[in-house]
Amino acid sequence: MQIAIASGKGGTGKTTLSVNLATLLSRQVERAFKVLLVDMDVEEPNSGLFLKGKLLRSEVKYRLVADWDEKKCTFCKRCANICEFNAIAYLGISVMVFPELCHSCYACSDLCPEDALPMIPHRMGEMKEFKLNDRLYFLESRLDIGVEQATPLIEQSRKEIRKMVDDHWITIIDAPPGTSCPVMEAVKDADIVLLVTEPTPFGLHDLTLAVETMRELKKPIAVVINKYGIGNNEVEKYCQKNRIPVIGKIPNLKEAAMLYSKGETLIDAIPEIKVEIENIYQGIIKLMEEKK
Ligand code: SF4
Ligand code: SF4
Repeated sequence: MQIAIASGKGGTGKTTLSVNLATLLSRQVERAFKVLLVDMDVEEPNSGLFLKGKLLRSEVKYRLVADWDEKKCTFCKRCANICEFNAIAYLGISVMVFPELCHSCYACSDLCPEDALPMIPHRMGEMKEFKLNDRLYFLESRLDIGVEQATPLIEQSRKEIRKMVDDHWITIIDAPPGTSCPVMEAVKDADIVLLVTEPTPFGLHDLTLAVETMRELKKPIAVVINKYGIGNNEVEKYCQKNRIPVIGKIPNLKEAAMLYSKGETLIDAIPEIKVEIENIYQGIIKLMEEKK
């Protein structure tokens, strides 16, 4: 089973839920099962701040980008015409490729009659795998500073998960915030997406956008309200009206904020949060069973 944890904006408690849910499940699921937490918020991965494990491997990740070979080019302009992403500029006496715009689609490379646009690996980031204990593993992907496209690294993380897990694994994805391509890529393989929000007007606004995105993707969704107790009950009313299950309400506690700032998990220190995280997992199981 793969559970993605997403939110319409950053700072709603997505990582707190991911880390605490993964830790709790690794202690409670049957012996035969293992839990993999994957931080796909590649521009700012911070799940690792709360997890101290043994580094098992570290790999540099590359993506392929078209590279112009001046010596072979006959200036036919086909490449610039075919590129849907405006990553190639034809300047009459030269061709420019903008690596940050290149989506590695191979179209120009395949079409060039002179083989003047080979695809060359460009470094985009790093992936690290950690073992916390026999039943909890953590995969973190981090984009290099200055690299703008997050989606290719997230796509590689997804492929990595497929290689690592089987039916005896529960995978939890800490997705990037927002509603753009990176989050869509991150939740692609998820069986269910939990949308974390706050009970405030801003929280509701971002939640509605996130719900629309997930509905486009036809993903089963459920909502978790973090900092429950502040703001108002508009989020709950919205969820009720739109038949979106609210499977968790994590209370707004000063103690939780303090533990977060120290990089500590909450389930061992705050019993009411532990109970709420357990309820969230039971809510997921119930929704998954209803879906069968
Ligand atoms: S398609 Fe190939 S030969 Fe034509 S302009 Fe582009 S690089 Fe040059
Ligand atoms: S590989 Fe695709 S996206 Fe990249 S420059 Fe060529 S046509 Fe454009």
